[in-house]
Amino acid sequence: MKAAVIKEAGQLDVEAVAIPKPAEKEVRLKIQLAGICGSDNSVYHGKLPAYFPIIPGHEAIGIVEALGVSANRFQIGQRVTIHPNYFCGHCPPCQKGMTNVCRSKVRLGIDCNGVFAEYATIPEAALYPLPANLTDRVAVFAEPLAVAAHAMRLVPVQSEDRVLIFGAGVIGQLTLQLARLKSRHITACDLVSSRLDLARRMGAEQTIGDQESMTASEASFDVIFETSGAPAGLEMAIQLAAPGAKIVLLGIPGESHPVSTVQIVRKELQIFGSMIYTDEFEQSIELLASGQVKAEPLISGVIPLEQLQENLENFSAPQRMKTLVKIP
Ligand SMILES: [Zn+2]
Ligand SMILES: [Zn+2]
Repeated sequence: MKAAVIKEAGQLDVEAVAIPKPAEKEVRLKIQLAGICGSDNSVYHGKLPAYFPIIPGHEAIGIVEALGVSANRFQIGQRVTIHPNYFCGHCPPCQKGMTNVCRSKVRLGIDCNGVFAEYATIPEAALYPLPANLTDRVAVFAEPLAVAAHAMRLVPVQSEDRVLIFGAGVIGQLTLQLARLKSRHITACDLVSSRLDLARRMGAEQTIGDQESMTASEASFDVIFETSGAPAGLEMAIQLAAPGAKIVLLGIPGESHPVSTVQIVRKELQIFGSMIYTDEFEQSIELLASGQVKAEPLISGVIPLEQLQENLENFSAPQRMKTLVKIP
């Protein structure tokens, strides 16, 4: 089969490799469409340690094509998406329901071969069936939307909340849409004006770019979702938070940055870390299928596997949102 294989940091080849065989309780999927995620970029550039050589990728739609021994939850021909973080279910965090921080978590496309290939073998427990009315293009967003849904579950938005979405990339735009279902008072903040245009289309009441300064009353938010991962993101969120505000960090900052602990105490702020998702996939699929969350406007292109490396090289292009890979 054809697969994209990262040999070492910065080197990706599209080549012929053996079709994987499904193990016990696994199925083999014929991959149709996959999404490129920030973590694929980090793996490619060697910023997120992975076991090279590896086939990257974890956001995908596939058709069940072969069943391993004892795999009986799906039928050949079913269309599914993947929960790409396999957890053990019995370590202390898993026992508490925190399967997202499982001690022996296996991450698809990082710890084992992923979806930028014609076929992938996946544990059947990690698969979710897709409704017929959901297109592949939209269904690929089930995984990133689950990230936003998890953050919203940690800190539910109330109708009168003034909400700030910090960073208007894919996760920011999805979080914005979920917050908009609860409150009209959504502000998006980003350095890139095209992303702010999109945020307004997605329902933001107000946007803040790098030139604008805000009055003290404007700069006073009850819930802040930090999705940029910028080192100074939390520090800025602390400045913009109203007394008693909740700040949720969804982006993993590339480096640590000092913050004003005095302000945290004086404003009595609550700060939450939100790590991927636990069991938000069904909700996520439902939100996409019902049209409550719109994914089409977030698609910035569809490319063949052969253009994956070039795309990862240009990952930080400001106009970029979600790029999809059509397979084969
Ligand atoms: Zn992802
Ligand atoms: Zn576990």
